[in-house]
Order: sequence, then C-alpha cells, then structure tokens
Amino acid sequence: MEFIILWTICAVVCALIANAKRRSPWAWLALGFLFGLFAVVAVAVMPSIEPDTMPCPYCKELIKKDATTCRHCRTVLNSPPPPGNPG
Ligand SMILES: [Zn+2]
Repeated sequence: MEFIILWTICAVVCALIANAKRRSPWAWLALGFLFGLFAVVAVAVMPSIEPDTMPCPYCKELIKKDATTCRHCRTVLNSPPPPGNPG
C-alpha cells in the first residue's frame, strides 16, 4: 500500500516541477504515475522551457511569445505582445 502512496507522491512532485519549468503538469503527472521516481529525476534534469516561448492556446505546440501566427496550426493569434519590459 505504501508503494501506491509513494508513486502518487512522485507523480505530484513531477507535476509541480514540470509546472515550475513551464512544462505540462498533467502530462508529467501521468508520467509520474507510470515511472515514479524515474520521472521525477527526468523532469528534474530537464531544462526549463525558454521564457520567450509559450504553448499555442489552440494546439499547445510551443511558439514564440511574439508570434502573430501559430506555425503549427496556422491560427492567427490576436493577443498583442506585452510592452517591452526590461530584464
Ligand atoms: Zn497552434
């Protein structure tokens, strides 16, 4: 029984790390359930997604934040980029 609890904790930790690295927490929650500690190690060593990219709101593929058209699903993104903030 402790095994299931440990695996659940691994999945949650995975999701939290993934979220902090701008990765999909739900995908990593699933991976955490499947691979337990191995998934935690995997997400821990993975680099964060670059801050100038974001997932497309329609197809969830990574695109540049200032993109006006998604290069994956070709949806026109009408949200203007935020005003330049230094740093
Ligand atoms: Zn898209």
